[in-house]
Amino acid sequence: MEMHTIESLPKAVLHDHLDGGMRPQTVLELADETGYRGLPASNPEDLASWFHQGDAGSLVTYLAAFDQTVAVLQSEVALSRVAYEAGVDLARDGVVYAEIRYAPSLSTAQGLSHEAVIEAMLDGFDRAARESEIVIYTIATALRHRTDSVEVATAASRYVGRGLVAFDLAGPEKGYPPEDHLEACRVARRAGLGLTIHAGESEGPNSMWRAIVLCGAQRIGHGTSIVQDVTVESGRIESLGSFANQVRDHRVPLEVAVTSSLHTGSWLEASDHPFGALYRAGFNVSINTDNRLMSGVSMSDEYHLVAEVFGLDEDDLRAVTIAALESGFGDWDRRRTLIAAIRG
Ligand SMILES: [Zn+2]
Repeated sequence: MEMHTIESLPKAVLHDHLDGGMRPQTVLELADETGYRGLPASNPEDLASWFHQGDAGSLVTYLAAFDQTVAVLQSEVALSRVAYEAGVDLARDGVVYAEIRYAPSLSTAQGLSHEAVIEAMLDGFDRAARESEIVIYTIATALRHRTDSVEVATAASRYVGRGLVAFDLAGPEKGYPPEDHLEACRVARRAGLGLTIHAGESEGPNSMWRAIVLCGAQRIGHGTSIVQDVTVESGRIESLGSFANQVRDHRVPLEVAVTSSLHTGSWLEASDHPFGALYRAGFNVSINTDNRLMSGVSMSDEYHLVAEVFGLDEDDLRAVTIAALESGFGDWDRRRTLIAAIRG
């Protein structure tokens, strides 16, 4: 498929981290403005290539790059600017619907409250949405290795109906089971927020089972280890284990990010990645960037990769986009309008 076809296709992203999608130039400018001297490079090209260390090879190494972006995200002005730029950049790439997530706890080092962080993000997204053709919602993330998830969920709950639509758990999966944060999940769900949990990325399907069954997650970030519960023959899924069957039949959205999972070492080659097999077996998989800066990708790049490696044609890509919109947590009237426009 021609690249320009993919670039002009309307796209929807459900899984994109604010601190993983900054412009290199902005990281430099914010470091300059705040006197932060820890950056590993002093020009946008070198900084971009430092961030794209595609051979990070493990989730833990990959996550270390976020120390650099988070260091310059300690003020409302910086957060609002970065949120605005994320919205504008996604819109320019043909993204019509985005849910962008961030962990407010990461921006409290210089005294910001969780609420102030959320409000700054909402402000930036609002400015981007007013001048671009894009619908943007916010997801508040709590980190599995921290102990403040209830506070994050409580802060997030105050913004229901104001652009914040869901609560998420992220961070190292191994050794930090999601049910450690059950109370935070309950707070978010009682407030009416959607719940998505990073799971089945570096751990097996049992981690997804915990997120879905014990915590009540409606969507799963990544979730690709579900292939450990299926039988694959010559690249096709031939039979499903009982949990994989549940995930497929309940249409649990799996927020898949192919390039990101190559970078974190979940798979070595794109051709080994299970996206294509999961899609053809009827799983509700979406195409996501996860971290545009760290992975050096845009949504168009990811759509292109999926088309090329797994043989999805334009109709398939539209179907994936529609499924992503149906799986969104934002206002249904707005999502329905976008779906109708894609169906034509
Ligand atoms: Zn993620």
